[in-house]
Amino acid sequence: MQNIKKKIEKLKKNLNLKRTLGLIWSITKGKVIYTVLIMIMESLVFMGSLYVFKLLIDIVALPDRNEKYDLAVLYIIAAGIAAITLVVLSSLASYITQKHAFLISEYVDDKIHSIAIALDLSFYESPAYFNTLNRAKNAGPDRPSAILTNIISIVKNLMTLTVIGIALISINWVLMPLLALFVLPTLYVRLKFADKLYEWQIQKTPTERKSKYLSSLITGEVAAKEIKSFGLGHYIRSMYKNLRIYLLLEDLRINKKGITNEAVTQILAAAGVYSCIAYICLSALNGESSIGDIALFLIVFPQLFGIMQGLSGEISSLYKNNIFLSYLYDLFDLENKMKDPQKPVLISQNSPDLTLKNVHFCYPHANKTVLKNINLKIPAGKVVALVGLNGSGKTTLIKLLCRLYDPTSGAIKLGGENIKNFKTDDYRKQISVVFQDFVKFNMSVTENIQFGNIHEEADHDFIKDSAIKSGAHEYIKEFPDGYNTTMGRIFDNGREVSIGQWQKLAIARALYSKSQFIIFDEATSALDAKSEQEIFDDLREHIGNRGILVISHRVSAVKHADYIYVMSEGEIAQEGTHEKLISENGDYAKLFKRKKTIAANKTSENGAE
Ligand code: ADP
Repeated sequence: MQNIKKKIEKLKKNLNLKRTLGLIWSITKGKVIYTVLIMIMESLVFMGSLYVFKLLIDIVALPDRNEKYDLAVLYIIAAGIAAITLVVLSSLASYITQKHAFLISEYVDDKIHSIAIALDLSFYESPAYFNTLNRAKNAGPDRPSAILTNIISIVKNLMTLTVIGIALISINWVLMPLLALFVLPTLYVRLKFADKLYEWQIQKTPTERKSKYLSSLITGEVAAKEIKSFGLGHYIRSMYKNLRIYLLLEDLRINKKGITNEAVTQILAAAGVYSCIAYICLSALNGESSIGDIALFLIVFPQLFGIMQGLSGEISSLYKNNIFLSYLYDLFDLENKMKDPQKPVLISQNSPDLTLKNVHFCYPHANKTVLKNINLKIPAGKVVALVGLNGSGKTTLIKLLCRLYDPTSGAIKLGGENIKNFKTDDYRKQISVVFQDFVKFNMSVTENIQFGNIHEEADHDFIKDSAIKSGAHEYIKEFPDGYNTTMGRIFDNGREVSIGQWQKLAIARALYSKSQFIIFDEATSALDAKSEQEIFDDLREHIGNRGILVISHRVSAVKHADYIYVMSEGEIAQEGTHEKLISENGDYAKLFKRKKTIAANKTSENGAE
């Protein structure tokens, strides 16, 4: 009893239709009601035609049938009109349903994208998010419209069932409950099967994602060079195949169990149907039913069985669609931790300073403190440099400066105001970054640069100016289509350039932005020394009131900075000017003296050759 109660509770929870119906209603703007009305009309016409058919048979069975000839013709015409009406209504219904299904799919697809755009970066660094996204994408777009079709079919079938059921009860009342009893086990195993599929879907998502990842390594552009040069293709292919085989075998096992259980219940149902037929035939032989009744029974009974089976199918499919839709709601319900303040402060455009005060930081899904008590200042109009070994926390610090994460404790302030008090989008507009792993947009040169400030109309002179400053103009001017050239090799007529040339484009993008601060995270690492020097000279000259933060391993890129911070294991180990830091003989001096020695050794080796 307790078990059944639990099952009913679970069924109720999974069949939470309210949200889905609300969603459908809001997307179709209530027009879904037309589909429902048409389908109800369809059912009524169908039932009417059945009734006319019964009347016709009764006339044929009458001894004085010749006198009712006109009436019989009238019934035949009525049945014909009903048949044509049915075709028209069902075509209309299927067109409208398709239209709504299309609208709903588009909405869901777009909603998935808008959620992905709105979510904090922390989600993108958590496998749980990608599992949720994967499930939502797999389960998503068609489910709400499928649910709509399920509900309409259930209503339609129930209406038909009522009318035919009444006819059947008039023949013999036992037949209806008996038939229902035979169909119920099928419904039960289908619902159970849906639960199994749901659990399996959750369980298999990480493996499915891994197999997709492996496939993208083999088929995609990003890893192609290394896969081929290290000869990794067949190794990864066999890893992929093993995962797919595991998934396939488990899919087959679950499906086999589902099909077997269904087959058993179907046999039960068929036995039920034949028992009923035997029962009614015996009662006819006893003279307890009219010929009209028997004819009606033979027409109606198989239909009724079909409708009941259909109902069981629709209910289980409705249940399945609903629980799978919960994957979509899992995504819809994700909430950002960083929220805009109720009354955001306006950002000063008066060249404020950017400062970090006692900042500590630990990644949300990790427990190691990555930044410890950081105090740092990027004044307007100054170039500040940040150096440190790999893993010392420089990129993490940039993520905090861009407000992709909030500090665990301490504060980041712009012009003395905690950045949490600004609207996040407004604040982010103040910072433009050239990331170490910048994006190579396979789009036009103009778009690649314009993305630095997408909030305003493209300013083509400024785009060119930014490209000149970053050194990208040098090669863009050689393209026959100039700034309209598509970059990269993914699309037709795209132009591929070297990594250093891509980097110049990324720098142009940052320069095009109207932000008050620019951050270069190893942004000149792929440039030759001359290009790098030119960029920094130019920056110095045109810096104006902008604050610049440069992260680099090259002495040439940092030594002219106004102020330098040295990071070590998440802490600021040293700070000051280049001259001061070199004289201190600490981490900074070691870092650059070692580099100098390596460079000197290389030169002497080359000389010896
Ligand atoms: P740097 O840029 O100086 O090379 P990072 O800021 O990238 O250093 O990394 C600092 C530390 O933070 C490293 O120990 C690294 O393992 C850890 N870390 C970096 N990114 C993440 C992340 N997304 N989640 C958890 N830990 C991270």
